[in-house]
Amino acid sequence: QQILSTVLRNPHMIYKADVEQAIDILLHIELPKAGLIEGNNLTALRNIISVLRHHNPLNKEGKLLLTGIHDSLITQKRLTGGEFADLVKSKEKELEEDVFKAKRFVGCTASRPFLRGFTCSLWTLFHYLTVAAAKPPNYLAAGSVLSAMHGFAKHFFGCTDCAQHFLAMAARRHIESVTDHDSEILWLWEAHNEVNNRLAGDTTEDPMFPKIQFPRKKDCPSCKNEKWNQSEVLKYLKNIYDTQNLSDYGYN
Ligand code: FAD
Repeated sequence: QQILSTVLRNPHMIYKADVEQAIDILLHIELPKAGLIEGNNLTALRNIISVLRHHNPLNKEGKLLLTGIHDSLITQKRLTGGEFADLVKSKEKELEEDVFKAKRFVGCTASRPFLRGFTCSLWTLFHYLTVAAAKPPNYLAAGSVLSAMHGFAKHFFGCTDCAQHFLAMAARRHIESVTDHDSEILWLWEAHNEVNNRLAGDTTEDPMFPKIQFPRKKDCPSCKNEKWNQSEVLKYLKNIYDTQNLSDYGYN
């Protein structure tokens, strides 16, 4: 209850706990659900891990974990989802400290059961990644985060409806034609707003967190006049999703 009221009072805040939860669930639940991983879905798995290895807000051990998983996948020709889970477990055993400590959603807390949570944290993670990738020294080529997200949706996303909608939207919005980091941030922002628009008023909407065209005027007055001011939106997104601005609230 306390988390919920704090989050409602600070709707512009992005929480480290949610980004960590997304990575935790990806590694321990969502990716291990796969059957055989080889060929295209192995490439997709490598891409996700590679993006996460470069950009994550985890502790030192978390960074070692992702590097360890990444390095092991380079030599794998095929593996099952179960074997991927074993790989994660074995790399975790080599660490001196636990990586995933949050164990609860904060900004993605729902006011009722079965709402928000993982999918909310996934959006949060991918927005965070697009912003992180745009920061010098630009470890990742422009488009890498969207490409990893596309591969995840195509091969691993357990919400098959979400995946189908996302893939159709990606084709319609030419996801592959994004060639610079700022456009990558804005592509995802616009796409997410399209999804918000489609789902507004749906039964999946948490009434305490209505689907809006993001960001709200009161959170970013300069972002929209008659039309969106994309350079102001970009500035706003780069600010709220910056690693240094993630809130630790509810983390410990
Ligand atoms: P979310 O939409 O999950 O947003 C999470 C947070 O992101 C918000 O709290 C806000 O802080 C921030 N945010 C919101 N909009 C933007 C934006 N435009 N730019 C930057 N930040 C923003 N559900 C369905 O029922 N049908 C679908 O087809 C479907 N497709 C999905 C596709 C994908 C790729 C994903 C990740 C999820 C999909 N979902 C779908 C789930 C749905 O989009 C929401 O995640 C879910 O309903 C929970 O909504 P929420 O209120 O927590 O906010």
